[in-house]
Amino acid sequence: MDGRQSGRQARAPARGVTAKSGGPTPGPPTHMTKEIISRAEAKSAGLKRFFTGLLCANGHISERQVSSGNCLACSAERKRTSRQKEPERHKTVLKIWIEKNKSRINELRAQRRRESPDSHRNGSLAWYYKNRDSVLQKKDAKRKANREKYNKRQRDRNAADPTVNRYYAKLRNAAIKRSVPPWFSELDELVWREATRLTQLRFEATGIKWDADHMIPIKAKTAHGLHVWNNCQVIPSSLNSAKTNKLVMTERNEWLIYI
Ligand SMILES: [Zn+2]
Repeated sequence: MDGRQSGRQARAPARGVTAKSGGPTPGPPTHMTKEIISRAEAKSAGLKRFFTGLLCANGHISERQVSSGNCLACSAERKRTSRQKEPERHKTVLKIWIEKNKSRINELRAQRRRESPDSHRNGSLAWYYKNRDSVLQKKDAKRKANREKYNKRQRDRNAADPTVNRYYAKLRNAAIKRSVPPWFSELDELVWREATRLTQLRFEATGIKWDADHMIPIKAKTAHGLHVWNNCQVIPSSLNSAKTNKLVMTERNEWLIYI
């Protein structure tokens, strides 16, 4: 243990480090992980970078580019400064670069999605919840700005295939039927009927549409709610559609925090 430690300490700092006379005199490097290789050696080995272990004019001990001989730390610093000085120009340059490399970026993304679908899904979900407000706002604004277009598209779809709406209604009714337990009682029926009435009253009071909703969705992938009185809540329709069958809200009044 002792021998190994002192050996490393003795080797690391000394190797190849020389301070430029008159320049800043940095302390000994705290670590040296890169292998020393000359520019010519790196070039003949087909490498893009080389490392001499020597200080650059600005006092970095960093890898250098084989093609230009430039210090990578200096390049990074220059980039950082120019980004701070002209953020708008940097944004434009970045945009152009992304546009130019779009197919490559998409390829890499698709590859990542294939290799670790879970991490990708979690990543996009996390992103969505972090930016949920602005995403929904943008969507809403788009819908409002193009209301006529959206309505027309829906009308066209319905006209092209009038069975679609009936089909979904059928699916839904079947799902409800499947979710009615053998102990379905007068109370269950009463609550659901009153909840449906409440949607109308709330609509008249607030001007937005309301739905009688199953707190635990009756068609969810991970849970199967029942069509019973204590799985009932009256929530804004907008929230209900955003909820689809994925977002499971199991607590009473939990929907309030999404408003
Ligand atoms: Zn440098």
